[in-house]
Amino acid sequence: MPTKLSEVKQLFRQEVRRIWGKKVDDYIIMNYVVVEDKRAAMSIGGAKRPRAIGNTMIFMTKKHTLYIAPRTLNYNRAKLLALIRHEVIHLGHPLHNKEFFRLCKQFGAMLTEESYKTNLPPYRAQIKQGSRYKTIKRFDDELKAYNWLKPYCIKHKIRGRILI
Ligand SMILES: [Zn+2]
Repeated sequence: MPTKLSEVKQLFRQEVRRIWGKKVDDYIIMNYVVVEDKRAAMSIGGAKRPRAIGNTMIFMTKKHTLYIAPRTLNYNRAKLLALIRHEVIHLGHPLHNKEFFRLCKQFGAMLTEESYKTNLPPYRAQIKQGSRYKTIKRFDDELKAYNWLKPYCIKHKIRGRILI
């Protein structure tokens, strides 16, 4: 049975409390929209870019909209919850940066939908081949990925990058 929108709302607020605390949960006004989106399973939008350090909110917008693709209502509970946590962390960290992924790990949020689906390690070490980058190895840990890729690139005199 698909998850009801009312349950998604409840889970979202529960996770806001758990990750950001009661003050943030009391402060924000959430709007929920179920809309088809091929790219993002869920996305969140606010008027201004928030600022947070770890899970301490420094500045945030009052009103937010959570866009929910209908397919996510058919996810199993664990996957849905991991996805909701990902969006809740975006309340304070709009970018997929180091800090964002650190919180994802801390609070059991989905890092990327691909890594959740395939169970593959999320960090991809890539090397440049012509005008394209090609994944040559995957890692669970960003630092390990860099520590592996850097000497590899120096040795082979090629460009590389780490993606998540
Ligand atoms: Zn995201």
